[in-house]
Amino acid sequence: MHELSICRAITKLVECHADGSTVRIVRLRVGELRQIVPDTLAYCWGLVTEGSDLESAALEIERVPAAIRCAGCRHVHTLTEPILVCPECQGRDVEIVSGEEFLITSLDLMEV
Ligand SMILES: [Zn+2]
Repeated sequence: MHELSICRAITKLVECHADGSTVRIVRLRVGELRQIVPDTLAYCWGLVTEGSDLESAALEIERVPAAIRCAGCRHVHTLTEPILVCPECQGRDVEIVSGEEFLITSLDLMEV
């Protein structure tokens, strides 16, 4: 389950940035093209942080819809299905403009 290793990587980053402060919320932005199941990620987060300093930290996951831009007609299309074809001109020369994000956008720290 690769969500588990992702969560381990996140905890390392978060611990580094929190620098000893108590973390309340960790916000993530995850593109829909990423093979990540938010529920599984949240579940793994619970496993990985159990008994650690991050045990009380909540994970908030923002999903970013996938979008493509057509090289032929410049049309930008938000994908509802993972089909990389321009709906305007049926062109297949498309570029992915969003949906591949995976980043920590912010941390909420406890006021001391
Ligand atoms: Zn097109």
